[in-house]
Amino acid sequence: MSFTAEVKAELASAENESCCALAQSYALLLFGRAFSGREISLLTENPTVADVYIKAVETLSGATVKPTVTGAGNYKITVEDTAVIGRILAAVGHETAAKRRVNFAVLQNECCFAAFIRGAFLACGTVTDPEKEYHLEFSVPVKGLCGDLMKLFDEFEPTPKMTERAGAHILYFKNSTDIEDVLTLMGATECSMGVMGAKAIKSIKNTVNRKVNFENANLRRTVDAANRQRDAIAYIQKKHGFDALPEELRELARLRFENEELSNAQLAKMLPESITASGVNHRFARIIRMADQWKEKDKKQ
Ligand SMILES: [Zn+2]
Repeated sequence: MSFTAEVKAELASAENESCCALAQSYALLLFGRAFSGREISLLTENPTVADVYIKAVETLSGATVKPTVTGAGNYKITVEDTAVIGRILAAVGHETAAKRRVNFAVLQNECCFAAFIRGAFLACGTVTDPEKEYHLEFSVPVKGLCGDLMKLFDEFEPTPKMTERAGAHILYFKNSTDIEDVLTLMGATECSMGVMGAKAIKSIKNTVNRKVNFENANLRRTVDAANRQRDAIAYIQKKHGFDALPEELRELARLRFENEELSNAQLAKMLPESITASGVNHRFARIIRMADQWKEKDKKQ
């Protein structure tokens, strides 16, 4: 099941007061495929939404409607009977020829605003799986209607943006916190918690990735340093012999040459004088510098 379908299933099961039931049904019809004096219809891939839409038509008009299934497997519910349409429009205070705008008088109480947004989302909303991306949108067929929905969000903290895509007017949210708020507002609290959970998992993954990268970089540095030591010592041994090194470096070079697998700390313990691992590091740096100088000189000869 897609995340949108999960959200819509949760929204469809929301309990409504009778004032809110009217607001939700109104939005569901108003934000559907068509809402005019000639046709009121919805096209949806979601069977739960189709059921809720059919109930809304029945509640507002008393008429029974049946969905048809399109070739693509979508559900289409169409009301074309002008008498039925007339009853629906009257129930939500629309004149027959009225523009497709929100009649805010239908939203009787404060509780109805959330129910109205829930209905609009059931009709034209989608939300991306939060594990992939943060995106929630309402795809509204008419610009003025999209503006009205925008006005409703003025009342709440989350601020949507508007854009156009393929002739539709899109009102969308990109911020994870806003998406959580909108889902909670509409009544999809479980899905809202799903977004929070996905965010927590993402942040843990990022921390782990940072750690792994850091450790890889450390390991790479250690391997590089070991390679430089080995090359320098092999060069000195072959071209000049360890006796060419100052006394305090000679034994260390020989020990490293014979014990490639030992750490600097282990080598330090094998030296006759007491010296720390960091002291050993300094001596290796000198050995590498000397090897580099010899390499330069040898090239010129
Ligand atoms: Zn209400």
